[in-house]
Amino acid sequence: MSKRKTRSHTQGTGFLIHHGTKPEPNPLVSTGFLPPPETVSQIITEAYSTFLHVQDGRVANYIPSLASTSPHLFGISLADMNGNLYSVGDSTHSFSMQSVSKPFVFALILEIIGAHEAQEKIGVNNTGLPFNSVLALEMQEGRTSNPMVNAGAIATTSLAPGDTAEERWRFIHDGLNHFAGRELTLDHDAYHSESATNQRNRGIAQLLEGYGKIYSNPEEATDNYTKQCSLRVTTEDLAVMGATLADGGLNPLTKQQVVSPETCKRVLAVLASSGLYERSGEWLYNIGLPAKSGVSGGLVTISPGKGGVASFSPPLDSAGSSVRGTLSASFLSERLGLNLFASKPIQ
Ligand code: GLN
Repeated sequence: MSKRKTRSHTQGTGFLIHHGTKPEPNPLVSTGFLPPPETVSQIITEAYSTFLHVQDGRVANYIPSLASTSPHLFGISLADMNGNLYSVGDSTHSFSMQSVSKPFVFALILEIIGAHEAQEKIGVNNTGLPFNSVLALEMQEGRTSNPMVNAGAIATTSLAPGDTAEERWRFIHDGLNHFAGRELTLDHDAYHSESATNQRNRGIAQLLEGYGKIYSNPEEATDNYTKQCSLRVTTEDLAVMGATLADGGLNPLTKQQVVSPETCKRVLAVLASSGLYERSGEWLYNIGLPAKSGVSGGLVTISPGKGGVASFSPPLDSAGSSVRGTLSASFLSERLGLNLFASKPIQ
């Protein structure tokens, strides 16, 4: 277990600092505090050792480059609002981000177009169907459904500003770098492998064009979407990216304001309802936090005002979410007191 203290004092979203006095609750937000650092370290280590030997799930193989990933890799990281980073296991192993990119690109676009236009153009309702469903697109009048399924995510990517495909890619890449607090590099294998086999996503983009629900050239939008999915991250990066959404858009390591608190609030609402695709209801019922999974085995869970929890373990359940990641998120939500719906009667 390693814990990196990167900054000593900050102002978290859930409380106001009055210099020289104890933090007072912020009346505008409803979040609390993490346990002390030693307890956080200990509980993360416990989650890791509890689930290290779980062997359920299957590594994704529909993108050829993912099929050869070791099923044994397992890492967990937590980034808090004070700039502390706690990590255990394979937390510096990098993997392509895949669908975990969706909430962050949505945040970047939402920041520009605003909540109303995002709802009109992309939608914010759950499909109840798998992430790459064509049926959802045909059945639901909005077509894109929400930014966490492929149709809505490709439409979101198509809204990136810029005069050329390259400029629009730069906007997305720069924005994701700011969330992570460092320059993310492209996994060329994942990018070429998915580009050669993504007929289904290209079909979705073409269908959206037919319905007037894609906002740039559909081939370009699918290519930029495939690139964003192919950026390499570690669990430490993902924890910091999640912590930025938990911190009203302020990256707790770099202290850069990446997006506004208003944007974070909306993104987290969409993640709560749709981040785990057709399992989003079950996830919220059991874990009580917004989260996003990806087919390479990455998972980010956000605890508003407290931090971002990320895990990496490639074997997936039948909806395409990491098995050990889901077990760890559930364990950590319970043991760190993160569930948004938990309350206790006042005596
Ligand atoms: N790039 C992948 C796809 O579009 C991402 C899917 C996922 O992570 N669920 O198929």
